[in-house]
Amino acid sequence: MSEELGLKPLRCGHCGSELPVMGQLVTFQCPACFRYWVLGADALEPVTVYRATASGETRSPRDEIVWLPFWIADVDGAALRRRIEEAVAALRDASTAILEAHAAAERGAGRSGVSGLDPLAIPDPASDAGLARSRLAAEAANAKRPPAQNEIRHITARLEDLGTLRIFIPAFKSLNTYAYLKVGRLLTRAQPPFSIERSDGAGEPVLCALRVEEAAALMDFIFFATLGESLQSNGDFLERIHLEPARPPRLVEFPFHQRGTSLVSVIGGFWISERLVERTGEHRFSARSPRVPGS
Ligand SMILES: [Zn+2]
Repeated sequence: MSEELGLKPLRCGHCGSELPVMGQLVTFQCPACFRYWVLGADALEPVTVYRATASGETRSPRDEIVWLPFWIADVDGAALRRRIEEAVAALRDASTAILEAHAAAERGAGRSGVSGLDPLAIPDPASDAGLARSRLAAEAANAKRPPAQNEIRHITARLEDLGTLRIFIPAFKSLNTYAYLKVGRLLTRAQPPFSIERSDGAGEPVLCALRVEEAAALMDFIFFATLGESLQSNGDFLERIHLEPARPPRLVEFPFHQRGTSLVSVIGGFWISERLVERTGEHRFSARSPRVPGS
C-alpha cells in the first residue's frame, strides 16, 4: 500500500467547489453550480438526478414530502422472455437426458441378465438394486426440474405486455437489508406508471447510499423476489437467469408522505415503516420531535 490514506476534500469536477460530504451517501451536489456527482469505481462521476411525478397528483402545501432515491434499470422484456424460455428448454433437455440415460442403462443391464426385470423375482436383491437405481435417476431428473408451464406462461405474457420491465432498486440507506428487497419487490411487481423530470437541484441532498455497480448486483435478486414461490426455490432455473439493463440505470427520487411513523408512497400507494430508512446526520426529514437541549 503505497497510497496515502487521508481525507482529501471532494471537489466538483465542473467548478472546483468543495462538495459537502454526508455520512455514507454516495451522491454529492455542488453548492455553487448545483451539479450532481456520484462515486464511481474510482472517481466521482457526473450523474443526472430525476424526480418522479404521478399523473394527476395533487399535493397539499402542508404535506411534507420525503424523496427517496431508487436506481431504475430498464430491462428489455423480449430479451428476458427469450432467456427464460431458453432456461426452461435447457432444464427440460437435461431432465429428459437423465431419464433416457437411465432407461438405456436398464436395457443394457436387462440384456446382460444382471437386472431383475423378471416381475416374479421380487425378493431378488438384484431387482432391489434396479429399483434403487430408477429412484436415483428419477431424483436426479427432478433436481433439474423445468418450472411449471403455467408460471412460465404467466411471466412471459407479462413481459410481452410490458415491453420494458423496470427494476426498482432502492438506493436509500437502510439498517435492514431486507428492506431493499421488500421495497424493490413492491415497486417492481406493481410497475406503477409515472413520469420523470430532471431534478432542478433545489439544494436538498439526494439520500443515495448505493453506487450504481452495487445496484446492478441487486437487480437479479429483486426480480427473483417478484416471482412465485416455486420458481424462487428452483435454483436450477434461477442460476440460468441474469438480467441485463438495456441502458445505464437512472437515479430517480420518488415522493413519499410522512404519516405518523409510516412513509406513504405517492406513486404506487403503498407504505413502509420509516424505520426502514436510515436518515443521515442533520438531514433527518422528520422535525416532529425536536431534541430538547440537555435531555
Ligand atoms: Zn460545481
